[in-house]
Amino acid sequence: MRFTVLLLALAASCTLAQAKTGRTYYTKEKVAGALEKIEKYDWARDQLTSAKASCEWLLLMSDQELWDFVPPPEALRALNVSFGRGCPVHGKEVFREGGQYPWIMSRERPFKVKCPVGGEEYPSNDYEPWNLESLTDEPERGQPIVDKGAGWVDQKGDRYFFVGYYIFWQRWQRDVLPAVRSLAQAYLLSGEPVYAHKCAVLMARRTYSTIDGEERQSDEAGETACVAVRLCVSQRGVRPG
Ligand SMILES: [Zn+2]
Repeated sequence: MRFTVLLLALAASCTLAQAKTGRTYYTKEKVAGALEKIEKYDWARDQLTSAKASCEWLLLMSDQELWDFVPPPEALRALNVSFGRGCPVHGKEVFREGGQYPWIMSRERPFKVKCPVGGEEYPSNDYEPWNLESLTDEPERGQPIVDKGAGWVDQKGDRYFFVGYYIFWQRWQRDVLPAVRSLAQAYLLSGEPVYAHKCAVLMARRTYSTIDGEERQSDEAGETACVAVRLCVSQRGVRPG
């Protein structure tokens, strides 16, 4: 499995000097204080329940699925489907209906954006993550409206980034980044290794191919990846994905 091979290769490349040996931010005292509150107070117990609940979907995914879930840095991201133009059919009406970022998306409909005015979905094809065509920056043209990752251009020459918008707002901002925070919190408060393991898979993948491609080369990013991979490898025996 390429995921395992990559993890082992990364782990092997970590030097001892790069390894973190213990907690540095959440000290034993801080964690003990939090656990005491969970024992005593309903509101604190509710926070743990809520942290675990927000991780349920992540525990259902295998490590490979989770690894593949994170977009590579080359995958195009877009702040808007089409600045100033809106929807190919309903134009700027989408902004009046749904504000500056009006498109409706969900984890259950990957790489699809839904118009808040007419309810139609774009693109018409099922985007295949992470296909090489999306890295060419050559958008699709004409009918039907197809987006293989580099967007689609209408007959007037205007470009629309359906998939890129989904990748930025849904996959990164709503799924991957909050997942790291939720898993970390669930592990901190419950001590259950499965949360650390899943978090480590995401962190390792995210750091290995971070949003800023240049950052991947930095020592800091490399160190974070090493810590994540070590944790990931060490937890694999506990709860393989
Ligand atoms: Zn529309």
